[in-house]
Amino acid sequence: RAKGRGRNMHLAYVSAAANRDPERLALELALRGALKHGEFSVHYQPRIDVDSGAPVGAEALLRWHHPHMGMISPARFIPVAEETGLIESIGEWVLRAACEQNRLWRESGLMPGRIGVNLSARQFRHADLALRVVQLLKETGLDPQHLELELTESMLMEDVDTAVATMTCLKNYGVSIAVDDFGTGYSGLSYLKRFPIDTLKIDQSFVREITSDPASAAIADAIIAMAQRLNLDVIAEGVETPEQCRLLRESGCRYMQGYLFARPVPTEDLTKLLRVGHVGRHL
Ligand code: C2E
Ligand code: MG
Ligand code: MG
Ligand code: MG
Repeated sequence: RAKGRGRNMHLAYVSAAANRDPERLALELALRGALKHGEFSVHYQPRIDVDSGAPVGAEALLRWHHPHMGMISPARFIPVAEETGLIESIGEWVLRAACEQNRLWRESGLMPGRIGVNLSARQFRHADLALRVVQLLKETGLDPQHLELELTESMLMEDVDTAVATMTCLKNYGVSIAVDDFGTGYSGLSYLKRFPIDTLKIDQSFVREITSDPASAAIADAIIAMAQRLNLDVIAEGVETPEQCRLLRESGCRYMQGYLFARPVPTEDLTKLLRVGHVGRHL
């Protein structure tokens, strides 16, 4: 552990990938300073109830603005954070920020609904994850029913028994669990019986092709039908066009996220949307 042994020790702990690739090394070193330099923020993308146009929840999405490199996408830096272990502290920071903000919205009389927070594989693997989440909820004063943790299928399948134990613990405490990017894993479906899941998020790849590819349309339709039979909520991700929205709606999907309704926005912008109470125009 480099902790407490001075700055130069960090250099001894760069990943194998960084040793091969100078660009990657720069990213890694910058990432190490990002938390303490306050370079992270959380954006929120509302989940819309398309029957009413009302925001009924939001997803917290991490943003990193580096003073020289500019905005760096999570698709690029999350894997680096994961590999270096930095995701532990970054992930905890996001979770705290989202819970804190949700409580603040509620205190000001707004109803943001559940906030979804993405967990990384490494965070989920941690034996004391459930305990940490419970502690954070207590510290931030947020009711557990207003938090939803987003996990991917591959994370669930890595160690099924531990996953079941962690999720059951969270569920008993009142925290909801969503399966993110649903339909893209290679896990089969029987795990849906074993895990205490609340929500399926249809992966955006199916939504993107729903109007052009009959197979994608059939898969999206089947996921929605299955979710209904299993009594799970279902959210379509990455909805960009009215046509996609219409097809999903016809299949019975009521909750959606996507640029058609709103991009991920800074806190203040979600506050405005919550005040207005609906997205309206396209519906
Ligand atoms: P995700 O959890 O599946 O999040 C959805 C991604 O789709 C977000 O990208 C969002 O901005 C984008 N998106 C939303 N609506 C649309 C749309 O209509 N069209 C298109 N093309 N894209 C849309 P983002 O914010 O770049 O995040 C990418 C991924 O990075 C996330 O995928 C998630 O896996 C990861 N991530 C983001 N924030 C965190 C975090 O705090 N912790 C962890 N562990 N992972 C995070
Ligand atoms: Mg997500
Ligand atoms: Mg997703
Ligand atoms: Mg994803």
